[in-house]
Parts: sequence; C-alpha cells; structure tokens
Amino acid sequence: MTTAETTFPLSFTHHPSSAARAEAEREIILADPGFGKHFTDHMVQIDWDIETGWHDARVTPYGPLMLDPAASVLHYAQEIFEGLKAYRHADGSIYTFRPEKNAERLQRSARRLALPELGVDDFVESIKQLIAADGQWVPDAPETSLYLRPFMIANESFLGVRSAQKVGYYVIASPAGAYFTGGVKPVSIWLSTEYSRAGKGGTGAAKCGGNYASSLLPQAEAYENGCAQVLFLDSEEGKYVDELGGMNVFFVYKDGTLVTPALTGSILEGITRDSIIQLAKDRGHTVEERRFSLEEWKRDSEAGEIVEVFACGTAAVVTPIAQLKTPDFTIGDAEAPAGELTMAIRQELTDIQYGRLPDRHGWLTRLDA
Ligand SMILES: *Cc1c(COP(=O)(O)O)cnc(C)c1O
Repeated sequence: MTTAETTFPLSFTHHPSSAARAEAEREIILADPGFGKHFTDHMVQIDWDIETGWHDARVTPYGPLMLDPAASVLHYAQEIFEGLKAYRHADGSIYTFRPEKNAERLQRSARRLALPELGVDDFVESIKQLIAADGQWVPDAPETSLYLRPFMIANESFLGVRSAQKVGYYVIASPAGAYFTGGVKPVSIWLSTEYSRAGKGGTGAAKCGGNYASSLLPQAEAYENGCAQVLFLDSEEGKYVDELGGMNVFFVYKDGTLVTPALTGSILEGITRDSIIQLAKDRGHTVEERRFSLEEWKRDSEAGEIVEVFACGTAAVVTPIAQLKTPDFTIGDAEAPAGELTMAIRQELTDIQYGRLPDRHGWLTRLDA
C-alpha cells in the first residue's frame, strides 16, 4: 500500500491522568498483579491516515477507546500486536529486551495485514514515553515485570472490504507477577488433530489477533483434556510440529543437540526463540532449525534420545513440557521433572533480562533515561 510521508521522529505530547492511582493503591496491585488484569494510569496513542501518515503521538489517561460501530477492525479483524516486558533492575533502573526486534516484527505483521508500518525508532520511543509516565508501575519483586502491549487497529468507519485508510497505534501496560508461583512446573500439552493455526500463505508469521481467535477453540479442547496449552501441526500434511497457540517449541537430544521447527511461514518468529538459539550456541550446543515431525518426536522420545522439551515466549519465558497428549497416544510422563538444560537456559535468559548477568549481546535497552 502507499503511505503518506511522515516526519520522523514523532514527538509526543503528554496529557497526565487526573485519576492516577495513589501510591498505596498501586502498591496493593503490584503486590499481587497476576497477568493482564490491571493496567497502568496512561496509554500511548498515535494516529495514522492515508493523507498525513503517522501523527499526533501522545500519552493520554488510560481509558476506553471511542470506536465507530463500523470501525473496520470490528468486522474484518485488521489488527496486529506485540508483547514485551519492562524489567526493574536491582539499582531501580528499567530496561526492556530487544525492542527493535518487536518493532521489526510489528512492521512485518503490518505488511501482511495491509496496515501502515511504524518506524523502529518511533516504536521504541513510544515505550519510553509510556514508561516516563508510568515507570512506577514496573514492579520490583523477583521475576515480576511490566508487560507492554503495543497494538495497531484499523479504525476507519467503512464496511467496504479493503485496507483501512485510518489506523490507530496504541501501547498499554499491565504489571505481571511471576509466571510460575511456587516454582517452575512442567506442563502437559494437547495435540490439536482437528484444527490448524495457520495455513500456507496465511497469516501464521504475523502476530495478529485473528490467529488467536482461531486458536481459542482448540485451546479450550486442551483445557478439557487437562492440558495447559495446545500444539499445532503444519496444516498441509498434518505431520510436522509448528508451535503452540502462543509459544515456540524446542526439543533437546541426549547428545546436547537442540531442534526447533524452522520458520516456514506458518510459525511466529519468536524473539525468545531467537535468543535461546543464540544462548544455546554460546554454550556450545548444536541448534537445528528444521522440519520436525510428530513421528520423530514419538520415536526419539521412546528411544530415550529426546531428553527435554520446552516451550518459549515472552510471557512465560521458558516452560518445560512434560508430556504431549493426543487422542491416540501420549509422549512423555506428566510427572517428569523440568529438564536441566531447560532450566539453565531459562535462568540465563532471565538473569540477562534482570541485569544479573552481563548483557553480552547488547540485548537490553534502558527505558527510564
Ligand atoms: C508472540 C508469539 C510467540 C512468542 O514470541 P516472543 O517474541 O518470544 O514473545 C510465539 N508464537 C506465537 C503464535 C506468538 O504470537
């Protein structure tokens, strides 16, 4: 699509909330934030239209959006999003992890969903601006964070089917408790045999709400079968492992080799996935990105060749997978403990994110200075 010229970088105006929570109220929320339930006092908003491009970047009080009932996002799901975290370091400073990767991925998602691209610097600046207003909402208890949710929607009031000429980009933030309270616990996952997440040429590589909408029914099936997450196979042959509803997967072999499904176009390119590939290579492990079949998983697991399986993504970081359940068979043992390498990588990654280990790959960006 053609996009109008926009002046870079965008400059932000601030409109402080008159209803900002007092410190005592905030502290009560931060003591037990859960995930995705509470939101900070402000949000970022940047408008786009086909004539002027991106404009009116602002930090406003957090609150409901005014959307026309004909807003195209409500009808044709032209929506994309991102997820990243702000981490409080021991000295009180606030950092985020590889935000330019989220910015680039949002641009790729935008291209696929025929939405306008926001500049990488503007994306990073939008997060800094929200932290400037709401930095006190970054909790400091171990393994807690402020989850940042940038998203973009088509908000033109028009029911014709074409890409919207009016778009909004927003960032909201939600304090997040430690994902696993009482220690990291391996999960069982459910194989969806009936549904797929993404087809060839579809939107699997874009981080868009539509992919999630189609994963909710199979996810509910996973819950019914006592599983925490759903695993999808490729939609063409139904043979190869793609990923979970919202996390990528890794297999660890006895000889130390890691295997993760190659990015075929139907898999979301996780930033956690990419970082783990790097950390595993740094440790001297071979990492294979390739097609990996369910059959191989079953065979190599039963032969004792696969010794650990884990899922990864920003929200839960690394989750050990104890067992795969399918309608016909199971792989692994639900009571199996978390794998050693799984836990070591989880520790190393979070140590880097929280500033407990040197940032040797230049992955951190300071947000509060
Ligand atoms: C966001 C997401 C992931 C994980 O990506 P991270 O950048 O590691 O958080 C994996 N799969 C899907 C479908 C996702 O939406």
